[in-house]
Amino acid sequence: MRLVVLSGAGISAESGIPTFRDALTGLWACFDAERLATEDAFRADPALVWGWYRWRAAMVAAAVPNAAHMDVAALADDGHALTVVTQNVDDLHERGGAREVLHLHGRLLASRCIGCGARVMPDPILAAPAPPEGGAREMPPTCVQCGQAFRPDVVWFGESLPSDAWDAAEAAVDACELLIVVGTSSLVWPAAGLPDRALRAGTPVLEINPHATPLTPRATAHWSLAATAGMARLRARLQTTDASHTAFFD
Ligand code: NAD
Ligand code: ZN
Repeated sequence: MRLVVLSGAGISAESGIPTFRDALTGLWACFDAERLATEDAFRADPALVWGWYRWRAAMVAAAVPNAAHMDVAALADDGHALTVVTQNVDDLHERGGAREVLHLHGRLLASRCIGCGARVMPDPILAAPAPPEGGAREMPPTCVQCGQAFRPDVVWFGESLPSDAWDAAEAAVDACELLIVVGTSSLVWPAAGLPDRALRAGTPVLEINPHATPLTPRATAHWSLAATAGMARLRARLQTTDASHTAFFD
């Protein structure tokens, strides 16, 4: 079967990586994601924003993929044509074995100069010393070519998505026979529009999330499960039941 998995921060929650709401603890508790994950926020207070990303990057580097990442990747081993479209900036799908992963929102484990785009190795986002427990403010390094600051290689609110990844995601959604939406709040656009694109084309959309989201009322089915339990159930279903049968989604 042609499958697309659209994932969000919730699929990595069971690897100990906080979702956006949960990442705003301690030092970062009085901010909201929209105030930290923007170019304006970075320019206004680069140490605050760079420190937040350095802390999150260290957390990702120390984490390991969970059973949900592995089960997503295993769908390809089961013989399905699989495309993973992720809003996540971690690399746990890749480390879980997925081969085709489209990153709509960039990567946390990389950085670049905000002025000229230069990169340096080893990447300063992970450079020693590691941030302290809970994170700390930290000034970003400056670029030797142009003197501007290094920024994380992610897509901030207000920035456009990488067009190659977005175009490939739309094409994969258009071609798929089942879209699985796992661990996303379905609040961040334009990614949140991909399930509606599938539904308009008559393609079933299965949502796996312990909580209801704006997508829930429109989804073909909502499994109120954590990502690990939901992906295990999905793999088992695909092995035994025809997805064109309504019992598939029960
Ligand atoms: P979000 O933080 O807005 O929502 C997370 C969703 O996951 C919620 O709907 C929640 O109910 C669900 N969830 C929590 N625990 C779960 C579990 N165990 N299994 C399944 N679902 C679970 O995240 P989002 O929708 O991905 O969008 C916000 C932005 O957050 C994205 O742009 C993304 O780049 C960024 N982000 C990424 C990471 C990461 O890469 N791991 C972490 C935090 C935020
Ligand atoms: Zn530069």
